[in-house]
Amino acid sequence: FRASSLAASTRYFVLPSRLLSTLAVLEHKGGKVLPQSLPVITAATRFGGDVTAFLAGTDAKSVAEQVAKLNGITKVLTVSDRAYDKSMPESYAPLLVENIKQGGFTHVVSAHSAFGKNIMPRLSALLDVQQISDVTEIKDEATFVRPIYAGNAIATVKSLDNIKILTIRGTAFPPAEETLDTAAIEESSINPKAPCPTEWISESLAKSERPDLGTATKVVSGGRGLKDKENFDKLMPPLADALGAAIGASRAAVDSGFADNSLQVGQTGKVVAPQLYLAVGISGAIQHLAGMKDSKVIVAINKDADAPIFQVADLGLVADLFAAVPELTEKLNAG
Ligand code: FAD
Repeated sequence: FRASSLAASTRYFVLPSRLLSTLAVLEHKGGKVLPQSLPVITAATRFGGDVTAFLAGTDAKSVAEQVAKLNGITKVLTVSDRAYDKSMPESYAPLLVENIKQGGFTHVVSAHSAFGKNIMPRLSALLDVQQISDVTEIKDEATFVRPIYAGNAIATVKSLDNIKILTIRGTAFPPAEETLDTAAIEESSINPKAPCPTEWISESLAKSERPDLGTATKVVSGGRGLKDKENFDKLMPPLADALGAAIGASRAAVDSGFADNSLQVGQTGKVVAPQLYLAVGISGAIQHLAGMKDSKVIVAINKDADAPIFQVADLGLVADLFAAVPELTEKLNAG
């Protein structure tokens, strides 16, 4: 790991925790800190040193008041500037670089979300260090565990960089909770206002009343076994509503147009670890398992008793989904 930048002069020392300080880069929207940022704070506390939460954008100060009450935060650093409202990496990464230099942070942690995946690689390049992605365990200040090959192998990697830049898998760390203490909030004086050559024009988000797929405690996912979009729309929403679950889908279902791209679970979709994952008409390809195998209880409905999904399922029903799903939905609704 990191052989390419391992200069002959590089020395590796284990620093005492008092010399460590971590910047937790948090996401917010609509005046609220986003759920995917709460495990970031927990991960940041694992290094043992001070944890500074970082928030940028128009709402940074009001969000800081919520964040200051979360367990493990030493200080909240804000940059109240609308230039960072859309978290454009071209301007956000230089903002982080200057604040990291000023604060002397040894670790920078963000979620392995679209935000983190957008900003942290650019930040790492600007600092000339290697990013460590999708971390599921922090062994010590320099040693991290992360899945590779779509979760088929687990690598333990050691970073020799002077600043460690991490994105963490949210499902691997518990969310930070509120405490009675309140951390100090400080407006940063460092705002390089790097020019952003990219203009934010608009965004179009899939709206849903159901729980968010990434953080839901229950997920029901549909696969190619549902045959078409009409069946998906007829069977999956009532099942999800009966359980109070979010809806997910396999890539085959997404590629066939049964479900929106944002619902894809797996290697190239979302990684979820709910209390309950119910797979309907999904074979259980490794790329799908990469996104859901850490779920607490996995239930599968498939007509093929040899489908690989049954190898990871805690409960399996070998049945035709077109009979089983309406019956299950009806029984759940009957209470
Ligand atoms: P299928 O494999 O076709 O399975 C359908 C299942 O439905 C079968 O097991 C069948 O027995 C069952 N079935 C059919 N009819 C019925 C019925 N009436 N009642 C009950 N059961 C029935 N896939 C993902 O899901 N997520 C990813 O992120 C992802 N990323 C990928 C990345 C790469 C680089 C590659 C190469 C592939 C990726 N894939 C991903 C695709 C993956 O390999 C599979 O092709 C896909 O997961 C299959 O989806 P499926 O299980 O819905 O379909």
